[in-house]
Amino acid sequence: MSIAIKIDNDAIAANVRVLRERATGAQVMGVVKADGYGHGLVEAGRAAREGGATWLGTAQPSESLALREAGDTGRILTWLYGPDGPFDALVAADIDMSFGSVKVLEAIAAAARAAGKVARLHLFLDTGLGREGCPLDLLPALLDRAKALQDEGVLRVVGMWSHLAWADQPGHPTINHQASVFLVGLELAEERGFELEVRHIANSAATLTRPDLHFDLVRPGIAMYGRPPVEDPEGGDWGLTPAMSVTTRVALVKPVHAGQGVSYGHEYTTDRETMLGLVPVGYADGVFRAGGGGRAHVAIRGRRYPIAGRVCMDQFVVDLGPDTEVTEGDEVVLIGPGGPSAADWADAVGTIDYEVLCRFGGLRPKVDA
Ligand SMILES: *Cc1c(COP(=O)(O)O)cnc(C)c1O
Repeated sequence: MSIAIKIDNDAIAANVRVLRERATGAQVMGVVKADGYGHGLVEAGRAAREGGATWLGTAQPSESLALREAGDTGRILTWLYGPDGPFDALVAADIDMSFGSVKVLEAIAAAARAAGKVARLHLFLDTGLGREGCPLDLLPALLDRAKALQDEGVLRVVGMWSHLAWADQPGHPTINHQASVFLVGLELAEERGFELEVRHIANSAATLTRPDLHFDLVRPGIAMYGRPPVEDPEGGDWGLTPAMSVTTRVALVKPVHAGQGVSYGHEYTTDRETMLGLVPVGYADGVFRAGGGGRAHVAIRGRRYPIAGRVCMDQFVVDLGPDTEVTEGDEVVLIGPGGPSAADWADAVGTIDYEVLCRFGGLRPKVDA
């Protein structure tokens, strides 16, 4: 065996329950973009529904369509595309769609008109993230056009939404500023007679730290996979359980002399007679090469070992010490209970736990727990 990526779907469901309780009455959208942050799109979606998510969300339209094809009949929102859609398929599949420009709005309207259906839309307002969505200056014109199309009967604007730049830094002044821009946008919509079903701006961090920004719907991603996006003031982990574990087994244990260089370039040299353990996973399996040189750790029999020397394509080495009880076949925990977390890897290699989850989850077939 090489690498085992196990996903605990019950943990995802339990995490969504925790978030639903935190959501102060707002509905919960389980964000399952990027293959459910590497946890499996359809499985994570099912677990989110089980935990009480009344919405699912994916950036890519293909993933929303895949959820429908897999039998999900609930509300699903997708948001990342240009004017080429695929709006015919999204309209046919009854997926809620985001828009932030007149051009995309017209393209969606054309698809709905052709299908004889009423498209459900969420206007994405860029309140300051500087990424997708309509800037406030262009909002009045976009709302006016949307209202005309709504009056024509081809679409209904059911939501207005936005996304925060600094939600993971509670108290950052941009959060309140973005919230105030959002309120201005909502007022402009109400003035024009839109009756919005869902207003939403909160990701995981804001779901946990800003109840005043829950509005009608919150959109947690990382937290539903069990990774706390911000520190829990109560010193815990918000009651969240990590859903992904990454393990393998020791392939070889062998004695070496003092002064043995280890792995390519001999960046690590043993300083005594010792036992080396060979771990049969490498950067082709998602193990960050930047974790070599002692930066990242793994756990074997409950003890932590830094990676000795360089991470190779399919393997790396740990120095087990002279008196080790570790034997070939023992489990090696790269991520999971008793071992490092995704955040430990992120700290070791200079990234965020989001990328660690996507990386491990994305590269190998998953084994259900
Ligand atoms: C990814 C994403 C989320 C979820 O963010 P987390 O920080 O993982 O909770 C919510 N909304 C939008 C628009 C996103 O792109």
